[in-house]
This record gives sequence, C-alpha cells and structure tokens, in this order.
Amino acid sequence: SLLTAFSCSQQEESKNNINSKDRVTQKVDSVLSLMTLEEKIGQINQYAIGEEMTGPSEKGEQAEKRYQQILSGKVGSVLNLLGAENTMKLQKLVMENSRLKIPLIFSYDVIHGYKTIFPVPLAESASWNLDLMKKTASVAAQEAAASGLHWTFAPMIDVSRDARWGRVMEGAGEDPYLGAEIAKARILGFQGNDLSDPFTIAATAKHFAGYGFVESGKDYNSMNLNREVLLNQIIPPFKAAEEVGVASFMNSFNDVDGIPASASEYLLRDILKGQWEFDGVVVSDWNSIGEIVNHGTAANLKEASAQAINAGSDIDMEAEAYITHLATLVEEGKVEEETINDAVRRVLKLKFELGLFDNPYKYSDLTREKETIQKPEFTEVAREIARESIVLLKNEKDLLPLKSNQKIAVIGPLAKDKDSPLGNWRAQAKAGSAISLYEGLEEAFGTENLIYAEGVKLSIGPNTFHQKTEIEEKDKSGFEEAKKIAQKADVVIMALGETAYMSGEGRSRSEIGLPGLQLELLEEIKEVNSNIVLVLMNGRPLTLSWEAENIPAILETWHLGAEAGNAIADVLKGDYNPSGKLTMSFPRRVGQLPIYYNHKVTGRPDSGPGMVFYTHHNDVDSTPLFPFGFGLSYSNFEYGEIQLSSNTLEADGSITASVEITNSGKVSGEEIVQLYIQDEVGSVTRPVKELKGFAKEKLAPNESKTFTFTITPEMLSFYRKDNTFGTEPGTFKIYIAPNSATEEYKKITLQ
Ligand code: BGC
Repeated sequence: SLLTAFSCSQQEESKNNINSKDRVTQKVDSVLSLMTLEEKIGQINQYAIGEEMTGPSEKGEQAEKRYQQILSGKVGSVLNLLGAENTMKLQKLVMENSRLKIPLIFSYDVIHGYKTIFPVPLAESASWNLDLMKKTASVAAQEAAASGLHWTFAPMIDVSRDARWGRVMEGAGEDPYLGAEIAKARILGFQGNDLSDPFTIAATAKHFAGYGFVESGKDYNSMNLNREVLLNQIIPPFKAAEEVGVASFMNSFNDVDGIPASASEYLLRDILKGQWEFDGVVVSDWNSIGEIVNHGTAANLKEASAQAINAGSDIDMEAEAYITHLATLVEEGKVEEETINDAVRRVLKLKFELGLFDNPYKYSDLTREKETIQKPEFTEVAREIARESIVLLKNEKDLLPLKSNQKIAVIGPLAKDKDSPLGNWRAQAKAGSAISLYEGLEEAFGTENLIYAEGVKLSIGPNTFHQKTEIEEKDKSGFEEAKKIAQKADVVIMALGETAYMSGEGRSRSEIGLPGLQLELLEEIKEVNSNIVLVLMNGRPLTLSWEAENIPAILETWHLGAEAGNAIADVLKGDYNPSGKLTMSFPRRVGQLPIYYNHKVTGRPDSGPGMVFYTHHNDVDSTPLFPFGFGLSYSNFEYGEIQLSSNTLEADGSITASVEITNSGKVSGEEIVQLYIQDEVGSVTRPVKELKGFAKEKLAPNESKTFTFTITPEMLSFYRKDNTFGTEPGTFKIYIAPNSATEEYKKITLQ
C-alpha cells in the first residue's frame, strides 16, 4: 500500500545520507506522481463538517455530496470535527474507501485552550510571560491532539490598535515587537519541536495580513494601509512566525493595496513564499476565496479561484471554489497544473510531518483522550496565567489588597457569572464552567463576609450580534437592593464589564464604555459607599474616564478563563501581587481611536507656546487614559538613571543600556521593565518610540537589581524607503521605563 511504499526504512535513509527534509520531499513527490488532477484538487479542498459525516446515516443533499467527496479523496482536510472517536471513524472511512488512502487532517480553532480554558489571548499578553504563554499553548495542544486534532487556526497575530474591533481579544495587542515575541512563544507551544509528536498540533499564523487595521474597527471592513506601515508594523509577527517554523498561514478577509488578501500575489508570492521562502501551507479564511467576488476583483467564483490559486492560497476553506473550478481552469490554460502541484505538495508535506502517513490514527486514541483532557495540573496552569494577566490600573485609599475581616459587598452582573470569564472562542469548554468571581471570593474570604446583589443584568449571549436588549436598557429594579448592601459594607467590589460575546469575531462596538446601565449603577453605588474596587471583565480596552477619576481602585481582569474567580481572589487578597501590564492603550474617549503608543511623529508634534494648530483634538488630552505597558503593583519600583556602555554603536557591534531598579515597597513583586528606542531621522517617517526589549523579574522589598539590555544594529533596523530591511546611521533615543509614557532617555549614535 501507499503507507508501506513511502515509509522507506531508516537504514536505507542513512545509507543514502539524505536529510529528513529531502526525505519528506521525496515522499511527497512519489505520492504526487500517483495522483490524478482531481485527486490533487481534493487535497486542497477543505470543509467544516459535523458528526453526521462519520457514518453512512441519512443526510441532507449537500451533506451527502460532501460525504461522498470525502470518501473518494476529494477533501484533504476538515475543520470542526472533534473527538478521538469521531476523527477515528472518519479517517477510517477515508482509508478504506479512497483510492490513494491519503489521510485527512483534522483542524479546529483552538485559541486559548481546548477544554481547560486560559485567559483570552489579549489578557495573556498582559502577563508578558513568554514561557507561560508557551505553556498554555502547549497544554491546549495536548488536549486538542488527544481529541484527534492535528492543526489549530491560531495564534492570531494581527497587530491591533482599535479597541472597537471585536477581535482585539484574540491577539496580543498593539505592538509589533511584543506581538512577534508572543507569536513565537505560542507557535512553539502548539507545535513543540516536532510536528509528528502526537502531543502537539500544527499552528497557523493568522490573518495575513492587515486584518487588525480594519477601518473604524468594524469587522470585515476594508482599510487604508500603505506599504511602509504594512512592512514595519504588521509584518513583524508574521516574519517571526515564519522564522520559528509555523506550519501554516491563513489569509485575511480584507484587501491590501486594492487586492483581497486571498488573491494577493504581493503578500503570498512575493513576500511569504518568495522573500521568506515559506514552504508550509497557506489556508484561506472561511470562504475568503468566495469573498473575492464580493470584494469585486473577480466577476464570479471561477475567476476568484484562478486569482487565489495563482496568488498562492493553497487550501480553499469552505468556498467550494477549487473543487468546482480548478480542473476547468487547468483545461483552459488559466491555471498551470504545476501551480496546483505546488499547493498539493505543501499539504502532503504537512501530512508527512504530522506522521499521518505512518499512522493515520495516531492522534485518535480514546485512552489518551480520557487521560489528557482537563488534567488537574492544567487547571493549575490556568490559575497561574490568569493571575499574571491581571492589570492593576489604580489603587488609592489603600483599598488593595483587601484587609481581613472586612464586610465585602459584591455587586454586578458579572460577579456570579460563570460563563463570561471563559471569553469568546472557548473551544470545547462547557458553558458556565468557569470559577466565578463570587466563588473565588467565598473560597478566599469566607461566605460569611460577603453580601451580594446583581444590581443590573447584562444579557448579550452567543447569538446576539446586534445591540443591547430592551430589558438591559431600562430595568433598574436591582439598583435599590445593591445600594442597600453597599451601605452595609466596608468595601464594595463591583464586577462590571462585557459578557464573553461582546467581543470576538463579528462583535465590533462603536462605544466601548461599560455597556448597558452598569456605569449608572456604579455612579449610584458610589453615592452610598465610595470604597469601591472596580473589577473589570472584558475582552478589549474600555473607555473609563469617569471610573478612573471617581473610583479609588480598578483591577483589569479581562476574560480570564476557567480559573478566573480564584485568580482574581488571589490578587484581591494579596496572595498574588499583580504584575500585568497593558498591551493595548486605553483611550479616554472613543474618538481618540485608533490610539497606540508607537504612532508616527507628525509635522506638528508639540504644543509649543501659543501653538494652536498642532496634532490634537480640541476636547480631549492627546494621551491615552492608560498607556501601553502600564500596570501597577502592590510594590513600588523606583528606576535609576540609564547607563550606557558607550554612546556610539558600530555597525557590527553592540552596546549595553542598563538601569538599577529598587523595590521600595513592603512586599515582593514582579516588575516588567521595558526598553524603547526612537530613531530620530529616517528615510521614512518613524514612530515616536518602539518597544525593543523587556524583562520581567521579581524583586524582594528593598532589593535593587540592575537590568541590562544589549542594543544591536539589528534592533535599529526597519524597512527603509527602498523597501529593503536594514539600518541607517544616525541618532537614537534610548528609554528604559515602566511603561511607554516615559520621557527620559539617553542618546546614542549608530555609525
Ligand atoms: C475566522 C478565522 C477562523 C475561521 C475558522 C473565520 O471566520 O476569521 O479566524 O479560523 O473562521 O473557524
């Protein structure tokens, strides 16, 4: 059979001294040589399917057609079929019925956990803890792989700067450098060192490219993106993904330079497969080849198919474009068979790398599935990352950590919510399976110290894509009870924010304040008891100007996953000293969006004396409310002056910049120290500053530590006026600071 024909023996291989890459290439070519054009096209056709496909049961017409296609090898990979048993059954059908017995790949969106749910990716990014993010991706991979899956459509590595966009929850925030570091960590976490290890899954760098820049944050919108910004701001995480060997890239829905990304030769042929020599798979986004027609650069699906395959989109997810039109397009000479061969080779290569030709069932193991899913140690990881993802935004009146024996009023629609903390894209988590804040508080402080009122409802669920419900708008009947208990308490914890389904795909908002009547409730509670700790749960930055001015303590806890309540209680109690820092700027008002720290210098950057016409809004300060990189601690970190080993950097040399930091607080804590650089003059306009390094370390009370960063010319490189990547001599400002809003720097010169 094929399987034996292509697993040539180890001995033979070493005798011929061929490396594993060549070995795979050889195997791929041998399989390809046996394939008909139809079978080839099948390999690059992908469907989303359900359990009904795992057997010959009664099906609708469309499903029956797809079922027959699967059996005859006209489908190369599927998404959304889960479980060791289901995947085993379907694989068996393919192995027993198709002519060439090429195994299927099973794929799924495993975004922040599979069964054990971790904080949403934006939250995790606020931990700046790369090792831990790698670990959560690895746990997710272990669970998913044990459930028969081979491939996840994650991580989403779109740089995003507009909090109106619902999908900011899925990424790592606004910074290309941090985004690149996190992309690498997550990819290595999912993939491990060896794709054939059945405890790992292939990862996807998505969405290539520019999806995070949709105009006005409106999902699926078009955008105005120039090439310089694309290269310097959007590309870095993708480049990093390619460098660590990500198995696949996914197209984005938007157009770039007037061309839908799935049809973009510039993105796919020139950059990805050309300059970067990416040899993995490019998968379209859901029907994004079909959407080329909607974009209006193709008159019909047939033209769209030609554009997509010729541009380098290898797999057609759900558009039925390739399976319907490619054969005719080859006949008509509009698509070369060799173009299809190239796409098919990439798919077969992934199948070999996953080890599916050796054993198509190796991931579908019922015992392993039982043993692996939701291991107790995974829950520990979930709690650990959840604590580190929390960002303390304000802490006055000495409210936090909470003192013992206080009477605590717990108020708000999210206080007992066991579902919202799971966030959007929660894979196979059971609805309502998170530890709620209230449960965490009960465990930490004892039920006898708590009094609770919901106050107001917040009811946007999985199927609500438009606007708030009537009930939410008007029903204030819970306010009185909430005020009554607030009056009786020493301290009030207000649990407010967004439900899981207020952010995520298709969940953009034009206002990003606390939804519904929550702010009104907060204002009224403040009138009766101002000792308020505002615990926010949300999937995106919010506008919090009133809250920041009027509420003494604010804790940003995002959608923290399965262990949310325990993790928040750890921080409220002081068992964990908060250390997270924001990876997206929080605006004062929605009209400031998009707002991000690494914006360009403009022709009118400063408000000099008497200067009226500079870059600003008349009615709001130009700064964000909370800047990128910002987060407080129960400790207090004092930064010394920056020391440079030299203020001249040779083109092939390096220098160091260091700073001494002292924990002058009473408790030990972790600090995230950030290195920023500004290029003062460039051949293209440059950002006011850019993150180029960071370190997260623990300091005991009164401990001082010197943090040293090495600065190399590589770190000063960028895509220049001629689109090449490299340095330009000149002066640079060096900042080492607790967040991006710093003003103090030392200058260096690059020779
Ligand atoms: C999303 C992708 C996702 C795909 C498959 C699309 O709507 O944009 O990110 O991977 O669906 O579920």
